[in-house]
Amino acid sequence: MANNSPSSNFFSDNADLRWYVDRGVDWAPLVEATEYGFRAPDAIKDIDAAVTFYREVLESVGELSAKYVGAKSSAMDTEHPRVEGGSVIEGPAVTAAFDAFRAAELHRLVFPREFGGLNAPLLVYYLAGEVIARGDVGAMTHFSFHAGIGMAMLAYSIYEGSTKFDVQGGRIESTRFQKQIEEICRGDAWGCMVITEPDAGSDMARLRTKAERDEDGTWRLSGQKIFITSGHAKYHLVIARTEPSSDGGGLGLDGLSMFMVQAFDERPDGTIERYVTIDRVEDKLGHNSSVTAALTYDRTPAQLVGDRGEGFKYMLVLMNNARVGVSFEGIGIIEAALRLARDYAEGRRSMGKSIAQHEMIADYLDEMETDLLALRALAVASAYAEESSQKLGILSKFEATLTDHERQRIERELPRVRARSRRFTPLLKYATSEKAVEHARRCVQIHGGVGYTKEYGAEKLLRDAMVLPIYEGTSQIQSLMAMKDTLNGIVKDPAGFARRSAQSALRARTAQDPLERRVAKIQSLCRGAERSLVAKTAADKLGTVRNLPIGQWKSALVKKWDPKRDFAIAMLHAERLTKMLVDEAVCEVLWEQCQRDSARRPLLERYLERCELRDELLYKEITTTGARILAALAGNEQAQDEAPSAVAAE
Ligand SMILES: Cc1cc2nc3c(=O)[nH]c(=O)nc-3n(C[C@H](O)[C@H](O)[C@H](O)COP(=O)(O)OP(=O)(O)OC[C@H]3O[C@@H](n4cnc5c(N)ncnc54)[C@H](O)[C@@H]3O)c2cc1C
Repeated sequence: MANNSPSSNFFSDNADLRWYVDRGVDWAPLVEATEYGFRAPDAIKDIDAAVTFYREVLESVGELSAKYVGAKSSAMDTEHPRVEGGSVIEGPAVTAAFDAFRAAELHRLVFPREFGGLNAPLLVYYLAGEVIARGDVGAMTHFSFHAGIGMAMLAYSIYEGSTKFDVQGGRIESTRFQKQIEEICRGDAWGCMVITEPDAGSDMARLRTKAERDEDGTWRLSGQKIFITSGHAKYHLVIARTEPSSDGGGLGLDGLSMFMVQAFDERPDGTIERYVTIDRVEDKLGHNSSVTAALTYDRTPAQLVGDRGEGFKYMLVLMNNARVGVSFEGIGIIEAALRLARDYAEGRRSMGKSIAQHEMIADYLDEMETDLLALRALAVASAYAEESSQKLGILSKFEATLTDHERQRIERELPRVRARSRRFTPLLKYATSEKAVEHARRCVQIHGGVGYTKEYGAEKLLRDAMVLPIYEGTSQIQSLMAMKDTLNGIVKDPAGFARRSAQSALRARTAQDPLERRVAKIQSLCRGAERSLVAKTAADKLGTVRNLPIGQWKSALVKKWDPKRDFAIAMLHAERLTKMLVDEAVCEVLWEQCQRDSARRPLLERYLERCELRDELLYKEITTTGARILAALAGNEQAQDEAPSAVAAE
């Protein structure tokens, strides 16, 4: 199998990725935050030296990824992991790749120096992840469950207050999971995130795994978990129920807590003592180099993280990073799909010319490239915002030694980057996952008959891509999150919404730069769609709110809501609005890039050319359709309400 275009370095051969390192990222503030304001004696103070180091790291990852992942992706696809004697045996290609990563000290990349890390920004880690995912997305997933889980442990310890800071020395003095973090940093262990159960996936309120406390104070977990990526890990972050929720039904989100579990111990004689049973490794459609395990906890000892009942909150911390990570997986797949499709189309001839020269295929390839570059821009902006919010939060812990500049930066920047990250993350996860599937499928199509065989690896990309819209929160759940945040924002601050609507409408007419006008038009269209959804929602509920001034919506809207019924129109159109909001966010980010480098203007033009008409159509769908389905659902619900229940029938 040929895999994507033979190359000896998946970073160096990628001009767009190099642009980010050389020009596209404003490194100085990120380096400053990553180095805790250059307090420690071993901090890298010179920004150019820091960026040179990041570039070298990415070049090294690019080389390893081409050699050990891209060139071996066929073996990674076919050598399925299996359970033997209670342990998971991985395929030789995966083992060789991870031996190489460990030897190159890649797992150290983002950990603070005080734990043996290299203290690189998370953004460098994400870019490295994209480069690995281009070779094989399952390998990237397993890679991310090393530092990703170690950094989550550090973040949890900071949140719960068990990390001590050396304020004068500008470093972390100690942290609760230090031993585990140092082990992961060396590449001797990895972790997993354990949430899903047979009866609870998207709906976490239905989780049942129980946590009980022994008389000696030890927490013990009992229950079954499924679909756990890298579930053969030594360290598990597990969500379990410590008490029934306050709704009296026994389920719900508020009774969930977060635990750290050590799944096994190595005995001195080299044998392994297990506290968690690996029931099976799933046999999947693709993503075969990544272990997906079903696990049983049977009075397994566990350590509570944070307070009882805070599990959902802690899970969100980990998930935000994980969603950004999955988005870079999607970009890696689109990069691979585009290269494979383009190489094939340029080499294959039909009807007197290369397939790439046929108009329709040229259009496909152009759209694939436009989406790839645009989504990478959104991914970098999201990752930058998420990392800045985390790092500025850590910097604020050095309270006693903060300079005026740092204090002002925290006050000014922290709320902005938090809001930006919250806004962008579900949009990014949605868009990169869906586009990875769409463009992997296009890659198969461009290959014609051989695309449907295993010869070129196009079908593998499609099989691998199809997991992205499912894990780390499905596409539908991302859409609901984006919709919920949007509605909350409008209801909480209708005047701010009205101001934003007016500003974009004005800029759409009067901005000097035609590109800025076009971006503002997209923004204005989004506000129009939101306004229609809110007005319809409110009108359904109260009949007349549509005619009220916007300033009175708040009081009218917050009365006696039944979220299931009252938001039905918004839920119905959540994915359509999400698509529009993705286009808006991409256009805004590309416009920012144009301010930095005018060479990015053609990319924004290309994106606008494709999204302007798409968003007009989405706007029309949102504002004119949906009534029939909602009426049918309401009818069903009424029928269900009226039907005698099984119990009553007995
Ligand atoms: C390869 C793989 C790896 C995974 N890794 C992990 C892991 O490491 N840790 C972990 O805990 N879990 C993991 N998962 C589980 C994954 O997160 C869940 O499969 C996912 O959250 C969906 O849950 P579900 O499968 O129960 O589907 P359901 O929740 O039953 O959903 C089925 C369908 O209904 C839709 N749906 C559900 N509710 C709504 C709604 N309110 N509105 C509209 N549509 C809705 C969903 O979007 C989906 O399309 C993994 C799954 C896979 C396949």
